[in-house]
This record gives sequence, structure tokens and C-alpha cells, in this order.
Amino acid sequence: MVFRAPSWAPQLRDADIPDDQPLSDFLFDDRLRPRKCADCPTPFIDSLDGSGYSIEETRKRIEWLATGMASYLGITDTSGDVWDRVVSVFTVNNIHTPVLAWAVHRLNGVVAPANVAFRASELGYQLKDCKARCIFTDVSHLDLALEAATTAGISSSNIFLVSIPADNGGPATNIGSFSNLEDLVAIGRRVPPLPYMKWEKGRAGKQAAYLCYSSGTSGPPKGVMISHRNIIANIMQMNLYELPLRNGRQPEVILGILPQSHIYSIILTTHCSVFRGDTVVVVAKFELMSLVKAIRKFKMTMLYVVPPILIALIKQGALTKNATGFDLPSVWRIYCGAAPLSEELTSQIKAHYPQVLLGQGYGMTESATVMASHPHEVYDGSSGCVLPGLEIRLVDASGNDVEEHNQPGEIWARGPNITLGYFKNREATATTYSGGWLRSGDVGEFRLHPKTGDAHLFIVDRVKELIKVSGFQVAPAELEGHLLGHSLVDDCAVIPVADERSGEVPKAVVVLSRDAGCGYPTAEREIIHWVAKHKSKHKHLKGGVEFVSEIPKSPSGKILRRFLRDREKARQAQI
Ligand code: AMP
Repeated sequence: MVFRAPSWAPQLRDADIPDDQPLSDFLFDDRLRPRKCADCPTPFIDSLDGSGYSIEETRKRIEWLATGMASYLGITDTSGDVWDRVVSVFTVNNIHTPVLAWAVHRLNGVVAPANVAFRASELGYQLKDCKARCIFTDVSHLDLALEAATTAGISSSNIFLVSIPADNGGPATNIGSFSNLEDLVAIGRRVPPLPYMKWEKGRAGKQAAYLCYSSGTSGPPKGVMISHRNIIANIMQMNLYELPLRNGRQPEVILGILPQSHIYSIILTTHCSVFRGDTVVVVAKFELMSLVKAIRKFKMTMLYVVPPILIALIKQGALTKNATGFDLPSVWRIYCGAAPLSEELTSQIKAHYPQVLLGQGYGMTESATVMASHPHEVYDGSSGCVLPGLEIRLVDASGNDVEEHNQPGEIWARGPNITLGYFKNREATATTYSGGWLRSGDVGEFRLHPKTGDAHLFIVDRVKELIKVSGFQVAPAELEGHLLGHSLVDDCAVIPVADERSGEVPKAVVVLSRDAGCGYPTAEREIIHWVAKHKSKHKHLKGGVEFVSEIPKSPSGKILRRFLRDREKARQAQI
């Protein structure tokens, strides 16, 4: 059975989705926008100093920055190969990142956002893989960016700084010799503008706008090629789906705390918000009290969050003396995604914030958003209904389509938002994007809403290797490769362990080397340290290390992760 958007949702035909314009032309096209540019507030403002640029200024800055970059990098022909101009963005959230991305597109280039939590080796891996031409970073990440750039052969003259108010200097050295984004804008104002790019029909569907890294169903992180049209389609899908909810409302004031490098933020708090004419208050880091203050100060109306933020609001809010929790009177809607939101947390949030409509969304880097909560009737615990223009199949373990509601199957998706595939990786692309269908590696089932009768998706399991820590991806294969580089480790497997705060955390199952010469406690400390030293925080082995005599494997040598994961679950259930 193929599941589609509910009948009340406006339909989206393929022909309605533009395929002959770059993303930023679409975003500011008054013929397509729900609200004309001139009637819209400042799209991005900084939560710390309130700075921001109007839409008019934003559009000028895109042109100036693109022209300045072209001049600085010696790009004279904007019709060249897009993969020759991949730009890495490695900064904390800031108001300049969207403009930077659209300027890169204007240059006919591709944006490769990097998680700002990365250590030098992780950034270096990504820079090398995508052959980034230059890097934009902020001063507190400059030393790390420099170290990674050196390993990837990127000259320090191709590292640019983005200024952010929260910057307190950090550990960076020698800042004076680096150009910054404003220098490029200044160059762009002085030199002749870039010629206008007229795109032929179909180009927006083939040309990558972003290269975002994801481990997919297995293996190490891979660059997902996201086309201009994939993002245009997803904006249109979300916009149509939410029309009944948003019609007649003033521009929203949206919390912009999701990492700007992640697809969830790229779609919802970078592109959808600008297209609809909302304001995003950009928050650089999560600190509960400052967050609550910012929500109150800017009278935010909509919060896009991941489960750990909701957990903090509830647990810490409820623990404050004489308080019933953090009062957030301006907020009418909270949207949670990137990881499962338990029914228990859902009911706690609803009890604390009865005025709030709490919904969920489900998606992947490879697909952007595919499900979102029903605007009229939220079904607690579900990730919502299928977005317009998409087809969903649930495929069971024997490869047959699930034909009934309440039956689980792997989620397969087909539609205009399904991305182009993995960069320079035909094999992984062929496995994951099979016959036009994206295999998600997540198991879901559709249940009919008791009142509306609409089919809502519940995520019930995950069959892929991925571990999700606070909404961030951890690829077991990447950690296993790293662990095998330690002399104490003969063999290993990395599996998820349930965690109240982060959802899941990684645990290493290790065969200790025969010549270890130390006991388990010392080996465990060393192994945990080995990961902590080289990998970002969400990859640290918070689930601990278990020593075994052998890693269970299939006859073909594949690690039996499922067996290890189920054994772990069974153990936790006994505790
Ligand atoms: P990413 O590519 O980082 O967005 O990770 C995508 C994965 O996150 C999905 O394949 C799911 O495993 C998980 N995920 C995303 N949204 C949800 C959700 N609402 N509920 C459960 N898991 C989710």
C-alpha cells in the first residue's frame, strides 16, 4: 500500500515545483511567497545583541558577498563545475550563515556545513572528502579549522572569519591576518556585479545546493547531495501542509537554536521561515536560563527543538523553587524532531504548557522532512502525516509491502524532496536510493487517528546502524574504525544504549588485545579517553565499554549489531 498526504491537505503536483531557478531566487520571488518581501520583518536577528538585516539588505548582501568571494577566489566564470567551489561552513549559529549559503549558490557553488562540535580530525575528514575550496569559521573555532585545513591542504588564506557577538576571543591566535566575511562584502561593493545566472529548465533538480554529511543506513558519514529543487519542494510541502494552521496569523517569531549545519535547521529555521516571512531569533548555544530569557524577551511564538531541550525545560524548570516550570506565555507551538519524543515527555510538556500545540516531525538528511504533525489534530507519540507530494511505503522484513494499518515496516519514501544520492559513492547510493525509493532504515507503522481517521506514522524501531545522541548522528562504523586504531583493541562493535537525557549514547563492545598488559578498568579508561580526545562530545562512550572474548559476526563477517543491541536492551530491562 502506498500512503499519501491526508485528503484535507492541498495537493502538490510535480509540475508546480519550480526547477529552473536557484533556491535564493525562489525564496524572494514575490509571485510565489505567501507574504511579499516588502511586508516582512527582519528574517534573522541575533539573540544577544538584536542585530539583523532587512530582507532588502539581505538580498544586497548576498550579491555583494558572492561578488566579493568571486573576486577574492579568482572565479571569473560562474557557469563552471559546482564541485570546484565547495565552501565549508564551520561556525556556531549566527545571522550571517544563511546569507553566506545563498551567496555560495549565487557563485554556482555548493555549501558543505560542518557540525561545530567537530574535532579537527572529523572536520579534516569532511574537508578532504568534499574537496572544500575555502572555510568560513568563527574566531573561537579558528585554531581547530586551521588544523583541519592543513590536513586537507587548504591554504590559510582561504579561511574566512564570520563575526558573532558572543565571540570572546576563544583560544584563536593570529586573528589579524585572516580576512572576514565583511571584507568580502566590502570587495563586492567595489567591483562590478556578477552576471545574472539564467537557469535552464530542470537544472534546479540536478544541481546540488548543500552537501550535508550522514552515515545513512551503514558505514561512515557520506556527503548527501541536496539539490536546489529538493529544498524548494520541501519548503512548498511544509508550507502547503501548514497553511490551515498559519493562515491569517502575523509573522511568527521563531527560536533558531537548532544547529544551522543540520538538515532540520536548514529546512525549517533557515529556508521555510524566510519564505513565509517570519523572524528567526538566532541562538548560538544552549544554556537554559538564557534561552528562557530570550524566548520571553523576543516574545517567541514557535519553538523548533530536539527532545533534550524539552527535557531540560521540564526537568530543570520543574525543579526551580516555587515555580511550576518556566512560563512561556508567547509560545503557541512547539515542534520537535530529529529523534524520538516519548509519550511520557509529550504528556509532561502538555501538562506544563497546556496552551501549546506540541507536534513532531520526522525526516532524514537524505529526505529532509517527510512527516509532520497534523495541524488540526496532534496524535501524541506520532510523527504526523505524510507531506503533500510524497509517497510512503512500509516494507516488511521479507521485502513485502505492508497492506494494513498498525503493521510495522521499513519506511521507504519517494518524492521531490528525496535527495540526489551520496557524493562520489555509487555503491551506497544504489543501496539506499533503490529504484527511486529512499530506504530510511527506520521502522514505522501507520495508525488511524481515533477522531479524524487520518493515518499517522509512529516510529517503532530502527534497523540501520545509526545511533542518535541528542538528535546528532553517531555512525558506529566511524567509532569502530577509530577504536581499532588503539593498540588495546583487537576487535570491537559500537551499539546504542538508552539514555534518559540524550535518547541514546554509544557503548563499545571490545575484544582486548592479548598483549594489553593491563586490567579491564585501566583499559576502559584508556579507551574512553581515546574517543574523548579525538571525537566530538556526542560520540563519547557515555554508554561505557564492555569486554568480550569475541564480537559476534555473520558467516560473511558482518558484525551482528542487532544481536548485541537486543542483548543490551534485555539487560537494561532487567535493571
Ligand atoms: P538525520 O539525518 O541526522 O536527520 O537523522 C535521521 C534519523 O533521525 C532518522 O532516520 C531517524 O532514525 C531519526 N529521527 C528523525 N526524526 C525522528 C522522529 N520524529 N522520531 C524518531 N526518530 C527520528
